[in-house]
Amino acid sequence: MTDSPKMQGRSTIAVHGGRDHRGPGSPVAQPLLQSVNYVQEFGTSEGLIYTRYGNTPNEEVVQKRVAQLEGAEAALVLSSGMGATACALLALLRPGDHLVSSAWIYGGTRRLFTDEFVTMGIEVTYADPDERRVWRSSIRKNTRAIFVESPVNPTSRVLDVAQIATMAKGQGVALVVDSTLASPINCRPLSHGADVVIHSATKYLNGHHDILCGVVAGTAPYIDEVKKKMAVWGQAPDPFACWLLERGLKTLDVRVKRCNENAIRIAEWCSTRPEISKVHYVGLPDHRDHEIAKRMLDGFGGLLAIELAGGAAAADGFVRKVRLITYAASLGGVDTLVIEPRFSSHAHMTSEERAAIGIPDGFLRLSIGIEDAEDIIADIEQALQ
Ligand code: PLP
Repeated sequence: MTDSPKMQGRSTIAVHGGRDHRGPGSPVAQPLLQSVNYVQEFGTSEGLIYTRYGNTPNEEVVQKRVAQLEGAEAALVLSSGMGATACALLALLRPGDHLVSSAWIYGGTRRLFTDEFVTMGIEVTYADPDERRVWRSSIRKNTRAIFVESPVNPTSRVLDVAQIATMAKGQGVALVVDSTLASPINCRPLSHGADVVIHSATKYLNGHHDILCGVVAGTAPYIDEVKKKMAVWGQAPDPFACWLLERGLKTLDVRVKRCNENAIRIAEWCSTRPEISKVHYVGLPDHRDHEIAKRMLDGFGGLLAIELAGGAAAADGFVRKVRLITYAASLGGVDTLVIEPRFSSHAHMTSEERAAIGIPDGFLRLSIGIEDAEDIIADIEQALQ
């Protein structure tokens, strides 16, 4: 074995990060070690023992790679994005503590905070990021963390993470960012001052709609704490999921850049269509977060949303007519998907509650994949007829 090569570019890290440089006879592809337990050395409980402890070879290579991609000291892979959010916050909060959360978060995360954390004695305040100085005014003596999602699913709003981080630091409060929609190709929240980054790796990091996974990145001592939570709450990933995630990560940079390029073209095309009354895409200059996005993001992402002039009834017709685009939940993969949040991530809210956070009935979320933009546009065009 020789020294590991120097890696600076994100695409290079995405392909090679976390693997030792390989000598003659060693496999080029990362081998899958699908074993739950490992032969132990007598008299010690250290080392490789059991998959749930989070240090098996397929887990470790992805953990190191994600840490490098995010510019973090350490990272941990968990069995889902929800597992990542739960364990990341359980490592920070105790009963009696207070969490300030953005009101604009994934529906599952909101249920975790409201249905679970609150019953565990953790207080949660939801802050409307559009309100001036809301983060500072929500802080109390017992506030331990601020949780934000940016860009926001499904509205593509973008928060000024750098500004929130400066305030959080001044108050001694940890800032946790769910950066699922950006991926480390479009944004690295730690470089903007955040303390912890979370991903549903089910989305862009894996990118093929075939595994459920999550990651948390931060300082090494903090990740050790998250690992302890992961072990007892049973959130460790299966080695095969880690193997697929490692394989998916290799193309992260090219996939995300292609999604960025496709999405901007499609958003521009949608903006010219009379059947579409509103296009939500932060890459468009008239989007209200466009200037923040230019500061926070290296690419505007693959997620966009449209509202049709014919309202909810027209949206219903649209999803029945798409052929290339698949009507399915989730996002961030190679296939273009469409979904209505009122029947998926935001089904637990009333129509009025959804409208208040910018998701009226008939709001269609598109997760743009890596197909040819012309084909995606042609499918949207025929579905609008
Ligand atoms: N965070 C965001 C922004 C999401 O969109 C999702 C799922 O859609 C999650 C977290 C939860 O991830 P998972 O489904 O991998 O548990």
